[in-house]
Amino acid sequence: MAISPKLPDNALQPFTTPTDAPERTKRTQRSVANLPHKWPDGVITVAMDLRNAKSEALVVDAIREWAHHTPSLRFQIVEGRQGDIRISDDEGLEGNWSYIGTHAKQVDKNQPTMHLDRTDDSTAFRSIVLHEFGHALGLMHEHQHPENTVDWNTQAVFHEYASESEPEDYIQEQYLDVFSGDGLQVTPYDQRSVMHYHVPAHVRNSGQTIPENTHLSQGDQEAVRRLYTPRLMEHSA
Ligand SMILES: [Zn+2]
Repeated sequence: MAISPKLPDNALQPFTTPTDAPERTKRTQRSVANLPHKWPDGVITVAMDLRNAKSEALVVDAIREWAHHTPSLRFQIVEGRQGDIRISDDEGLEGNWSYIGTHAKQVDKNQPTMHLDRTDDSTAFRSIVLHEFGHALGLMHEHQHPENTVDWNTQAVFHEYASESEPEDYIQEQYLDVFSGDGLQVTPYDQRSVMHYHVPAHVRNSGQTIPENTHLSQGDQEAVRRLYTPRLMEHSA
């Protein structure tokens, strides 16, 4: 399937009115990463335009959790609104979404590269930031991993998630299609990944609910470390 440069996460809690671009449920994955859009080694500046210090602290905390596993990258929080990654909770925008990796560079400098819906639920907010920042690092959705074992009940998925603003073909694209093709780093499928959507039992043919994941799984850590470990010089024998 074609890979979109920007992933909307409508499905992520907290739920807001669906907009044109969102995803839906939520997470778990080890990972599928978009290699052509990984960041080069070095410093990534992050600008935050958020309503209060508490939101900022939660974002910084989530970035720090990822940063433990990205040795080739350093994240620098900068004042103002200009940064490689620009995070906003502007209420004029809707949904939780992020551009994938360096697709952020193609965004107008005056526009955010990541949007977070405001909520007073700190746990949900931090968990959403982890997911969206995973996209910002180049990670895709784990529930669309080529080896996923979700075993979707297609009709139930459409019934649960499709709407006028998110028709069935959009839901197909965000939930049911699996990633394939070149340019992907694929590590083992992982339902505990923060990049996997929460999946309620009734949209699966078998199995139980796949819960919302609120911390980086072992798989998330390994996947991003593989993506962002400095390359060693090769010895020539
Ligand atoms: Zn997402």
